[in-house]
Amino acid sequence: MAGSAVGDARAAVVALCRGLVERGLVVGTAGNVSVRDGELIAVSPSGVDYGSLTAAMVGLHALDGSPVDAPLAPTSELALHCLVHTRPGAADGEVVLHTHAAASTALSTVVDEVPLTHYYAAFFGGAIRVAPYATFGTAALAEHVRAALVGRTAALMANHGAVLVAPGVAGALDRAGYLEYVCDVALRGLATGLPLRTLDGAEIDRVRDALAGYGQGDR
Ligand SMILES: [Zn+2]
Repeated sequence: MAGSAVGDARAAVVALCRGLVERGLVVGTAGNVSVRDGELIAVSPSGVDYGSLTAAMVGLHALDGSPVDAPLAPTSELALHCLVHTRPGAADGEVVLHTHAAASTALSTVVDEVPLTHYYAAFFGGAIRVAPYATFGTAALAEHVRAALVGRTAALMANHGAVLVAPGVAGALDRAGYLEYVCDVALRGLATGLPLRTLDGAEIDRVRDALAGYGQGDR
């Protein structure tokens, strides 16, 4: 992030948290958000109502999670955020969003991979994997999610929720909405009990290539 990036990153965390609430993707204080800013990660604090969250309350942490300027306890999923922000191919300015949104969480209880019922899977690099369950806040869960994100920008967390990586603040909330939509469509298809008609990986690759040149490049 350019300029007074640290302040921007903290403000971005607040805006993203509020945006998730406005879009109905979080209930209460469930879910958490981080923005990488150079060698720092701005992370939402633990258990603070998003309506009263301010930029000054957002913690800054080193890439290993150690606090640099963190007035409140960080999200319990700090290790997950750190691991995702330092995965191979991670880039400065990336946003990591974690929610317990209903459709993605429900779907995480019945599949190991999101069926390719909609071509929007291409937004996330292909079929979205479901990371195996581990207790929230543990290194094991963070590692499961990191593995599920290889070659993807989203993963579900079994019996827990969803995690998304966006290249920047702009468009991140839209991506979170698409992720929930893709999961909701698959879930509704499964709920009919009828055989799903799915797309194959080659079609998802074609769509991904087409989307790369579509609109402003953020679709
Ligand atoms: Zn969670």
